[in-house]
Amino acid sequence: MRKKIAAGNWKMNLTPDEACDFAAKLAPKTEGGADVVFCVPFVSISDVVKAVKGTGVSVGAQNMYFEEKGAFTGEISASQLIGAGAKYVIIGHSERRQYFSETDETVNKKLIKALEHGLIPIVCVGETLKEREDGITIELVRIQLKRGLLGLNPSEAVKTVIAYEPVWAIGTGKTATSEQAEEVCAAIRELLEELYDKNTAEEIPILYGGSVTAQNAGELFAQKNIDGGLVGGASLKDDFEVIAKA
Ligand code: PEP
Repeated sequence: MRKKIAAGNWKMNLTPDEACDFAAKLAPKTEGGADVVFCVPFVSISDVVKAVKGTGVSVGAQNMYFEEKGAFTGEISASQLIGAGAKYVIIGHSERRQYFSETDETVNKKLIKALEHGLIPIVCVGETLKEREDGITIELVRIQLKRGLLGLNPSEAVKTVIAYEPVWAIGTGKTATSEQAEEVCAAIRELLEELYDKNTAEEIPILYGGSVTAQNAGELFAQKNIDGGLVGGASLKDDFEVIAKA
């Protein structure tokens, strides 16, 4: 049985105090189904870890740097995240690719460093609207993943979570249909089998992200190759309770 995951990406929202209050109220309501992760801003990680203590919720970061340590002003390392109590880290979110010039190559370096430190990476891939209209979605996602996962062996790959997030669906209210999402997630699983082997491919959780709501989560997560969601907007609402239970 593959792990089911409901991960909330809080993005650049909430002060540390607000994050603690919200996390402490929401965490107990999400228990009993999937592994729940709150990916919070760096400055709130250690406080939110304390706020959710005793619940089943884990805390994640939204990014990290690929170097071990040193003169990289403003960056945060994997060991700093571990020290703050983070268990997960989102890597290569489309907003990082779009606004902060992240590439498949930096995703690969970050992924390797995260695994080295025992963080669980949630690696994001997905096409823009233009790429979907051009009919290159599957090829593009395959390239993003082939480059992103470069050099990983099967025992490292199984510690990774993949999130398929069509860029046109993120924060737009335009959710992919469950057929569109399943088609790409199934293609991802096929690629994982090509890169590794069937058992490894069957073990890796693949999440869908892009305007998941309390209303559409059930149908999306019922798809054979979708093992949960990476959720932005709705993770900051009580809806997340419904999504986690779906
Ligand atoms: C995200 O930020 O990863 C995301 C999927 O956002 P939203 O749910 O708001 O579309």
